[in-house]
Amino acid sequence: METKVAIVKDISRDIEYIEEAGKVIREGGTVAFPTETVYGLGADALNEDAVKKIFIAKGRPQDNPLIVHVASKDISDLVKEVPKIAQELMNKFWPGPLTIILEKKDIIPNVTSANLSTIGIRMPSSKIALKLIELSGRPIAAPSANISGRPSPTEVERCVEDLNGRVDYIIGGESSNIGVESTIIDCTVNPPLVLRPGGITLEMLKEINSEIEIDKALMSKPSDDLKPKAPGMKYRHYAPKASLKIISGKNEKTIEIINQMMENYIEKNNTVAILTTDENLNKFNKGEVISLGSENNLYEIAKNLFESLRKCDDLGVDYILCQGFEEYGVGLAIMNRLNKAAGYDIIYV
Ligand code: AMP
Ligand code: MG
Repeated sequence: METKVAIVKDISRDIEYIEEAGKVIREGGTVAFPTETVYGLGADALNEDAVKKIFIAKGRPQDNPLIVHVASKDISDLVKEVPKIAQELMNKFWPGPLTIILEKKDIIPNVTSANLSTIGIRMPSSKIALKLIELSGRPIAAPSANISGRPSPTEVERCVEDLNGRVDYIIGGESSNIGVESTIIDCTVNPPLVLRPGGITLEMLKEINSEIEIDKALMSKPSDDLKPKAPGMKYRHYAPKASLKIISGKNEKTIEIINQMMENYIEKNNTVAILTTDENLNKFNKGEVISLGSENNLYEIAKNLFESLRKCDDLGVDYILCQGFEEYGVGLAIMNRLNKAAGYDIIYV
């Protein structure tokens, strides 16, 4: 399949690309496009055949539902009812990185919702994404624009790396500023439950309703007793090719342990990359040391997380040793993704 790649540098000047991509969506094709969370791979959410193409292009398991992206807060065509709390969340956080789960109307085909009676809906804030949804005239179903299991793309080059030849169109032009996927909140239960942490933090949600809690199964390895409620959270995800290990604890201790582990690996002729913070950059004397950002800015770390995992793959290292972060604010999303990327191989020191 021939993939057209177009970079939108200026929305009004390059509007023809977005129009063209919108037409691709309307005609049942697939388009990768930027959003503020990560790049998405979109198709007409109401067109069963189009949505199937997303699953094929990504190699995505069919029981993993898609999020539907809209360009307006009026979602009455798509869902049975909008409870008061969902409306409040939309008013406060849309457009933005919050996906709201509601009971779906039959207009949404089962392939989009992976046979669930509910659907996740989000209005992104990315200007390009909003324009694409508007011009396509359709709600756009879009999971992250990566091959299933790989770290999500936050730069257009990574979409091209994964999806060139597998989709009809790739639009670039923005880096994803949040860098981790949207927060998912289930509003079919009372009080609403956070099914996936993201850029909208639990603390921010609690300001709307203090009873909002987070799915307890999220931060530990899934087991028979404790399974995450969001279907997608059970899969190994976001994984680099190298073996990733997270070392979490007091800063000085983690540095000491990482240095020891690195010596061990290097002695056995393995190559190692270290993911750390600006503040710790010069505390490791060997290995490829990459900073995720300042320890004082977890949003910067979230933004750089997936791209840094992919950079480690570019380097072709055998092991990645990554410092852990506090599980607070957006740190919860960072640690959730790191845990999954590492197959829960986390060492507390
Ligand atoms: P992705 O867009 O690749 O981040 O994947 C979307 C994720 O949203 C899925 O993996 C699910 O975990 C979650 N999700 C989507 N729809 C629903 C739903 N109706 N109920 C629960 N979780 C959902
Ligand atoms: Mg994904």
